[in-house]
Amino acid sequence: MHNSAPDRQPGFGRFLILSLLLVFSNVISSCGEDEASDDSRPFIVTTTNLIRDAVENIGGDDVRITSLMGPGVDPHLYRATPRDFQQMERSDLVLYNGLFLEGRLSEILDRLGDQSRVVTGSIPRDKLIEASDYGGTYDPHVWFDAELWMYVIDDVQEALSSLLPEKSGQFAERAELYKQELEELHLYALQRIQQIPEEQRILITAHDAFQYFGRAYNIEVRGLQGLSTATEFGLQDVSRMVSLIIERRIPAIFIETGVSTRAIESVIAGVRNRGYSVQIGGALFSDSMGARGTPEGTYAGMFRHNVETIVRGLTEEIQPS
Ligand SMILES: [Zn+2]
Repeated sequence: MHNSAPDRQPGFGRFLILSLLLVFSNVISSCGEDEASDDSRPFIVTTTNLIRDAVENIGGDDVRITSLMGPGVDPHLYRATPRDFQQMERSDLVLYNGLFLEGRLSEILDRLGDQSRVVTGSIPRDKLIEASDYGGTYDPHVWFDAELWMYVIDDVQEALSSLLPEKSGQFAERAELYKQELEELHLYALQRIQQIPEEQRILITAHDAFQYFGRAYNIEVRGLQGLSTATEFGLQDVSRMVSLIIERRIPAIFIETGVSTRAIESVIAGVRNRGYSVQIGGALFSDSMGARGTPEGTYAGMFRHNVETIVRGLTEEIQPS
């Protein structure tokens, strides 16, 4: 017989642990009815923090929310952690962007069946930008057109209302308010981008996240890396970009939070090698918002930050005479 002594702990130790567990569970369950009723609120898990912002605005205190991906996290490359699996398992609903944004989570999200729901489902297909070079059929970066993001608000509202029908009136009210805010953002961006001199109205970034932004707000957009950060860029891409910058006298190009700066740095070096200079216009939020508690930690704040950074970077300072 093998010696199983280490497994056979004296009964007392085990008894103590069990008693402590019992005491704890009694404490927890008798912790007051308030605590218990809080816990009965639906628990929503979102993939990106952009979707979390929509759920927070519509669900308010009536739901509990967490997002798997925080600030600066790249959804194209994101892999689920054991904690993510736990959260998804415990949740009442998982809301995700879809359109293959969450490339490596796609299979897991599909397998959740009714427990998960895509938030871009009601965007009319003819409003989506077709893209076939990265695994999906459409460009997934829909949040950069504030009017398209309103469809997402509708989807989130519907999802929350079916979880909590008795609150559907409140959800509808909050969704309406939030959509008004988005409408204001939309008009603001339209006006602001127009202030960039037409010749220089071109947004160059590493990964191609801003096609919807460009279409909605009339600015030409070029990305070096394609729609997904998983796509590599080549020397040819860099030299094409360098020529474009020099021809059009573009004053600035932009880095993105959560995306390697390598691509943008090689463009800057290429421009310098040809005797010109181009600035880094600042960092744009592309596939996630900023940290909670900062102005960029909300969708609206992130959006405004991007618009202001782009306008400042591409508008030559007028020196006082
Ligand atoms: Zn992206």
